Amino acid sequence: MIGIFGGTFDPVHLGHIKPALDVKRHLNLEELRFIPCSIPAHRDAPIATVEQRLAMLHLAVDEYADCSVDEREVNRQGVSYMVDTLQSLRQDLKDKSLCLIIGMDAFLGLNRWHHWQQLFELANFVVTYRPGFELEMEKIPVDLLKQVNQRQVKSVAAFSESQHGAIIFMPVTQLDISATDIRQRVKQQQSVKDQVPAAVDDFIQQQKLYTG
Ligand code: ATP
Repeated sequence: MIGIFGGTFDPVHLGHIKPALDVKRHLNLEELRFIPCSIPAHRDAPIATVEQRLAMLHLAVDEYADCSVDEREVNRQGVSYMVDTLQSLRQDLKDKSLCLIIGMDAFLGLNRWHHWQQLFELANFVVTYRPGFELEMEKIPVDLLKQVNQRQVKSVAAFSESQHGAIIFMPVTQLDISATDIRQRVKQQQSVKDQVPAAVDDFIQQQKLYTG
């Protein structure tokens, strides 16, 4: 099974990398792909250019075995819809099963994604959450909860056998880091060395990113 971790990555930070690697290890994924979006569907346009976001992702990801940056969303015109991305991955990867790794915060809004119900025909879902954050389950909207009730699996074995459509909730080392906070800190000339890999920190400084 191949793990997919999508995001704006403006910039990529340890709160992305560490949980994704936890999931990869826990589910024994053969590969992990980080997919930066071009124009995000559900938020403001990024501040860094596509080239800068890609460069930072490569600096953060390339050192890990079986991890890569997949550029298909930035190479595609227009808004990045996950349903299109998964369809294109399915075409490329044929018989491999996919799992989309998303944080609980993003999952709570899944029912607003373009053709969201179709996503379950294309991939499995790993929803990561902070240990102790089980209460977030109560915030799942009704139509999404219906899907969760039908699709949730509790064992890694059952999840690993599923081609698509299974949902597993997984506690991970979730760090209290967000790209918004990082951009804010840089603007205020505070250090972000505890939030991003060292090479990304250097890059942000060299490029004078997020200072304006
Ligand atoms: P921003 O602050 O600009 O909204 P972000 O830090 O949330 O950005 P994104 O690129 O929008 O980063 O997030 C992509 C994915 O990463 C989402 O699935 C989100 O849930 C997850 N994610 C972001 N921060 C964390 C974190 N600290 N721990 C675990 N998952 C995270």
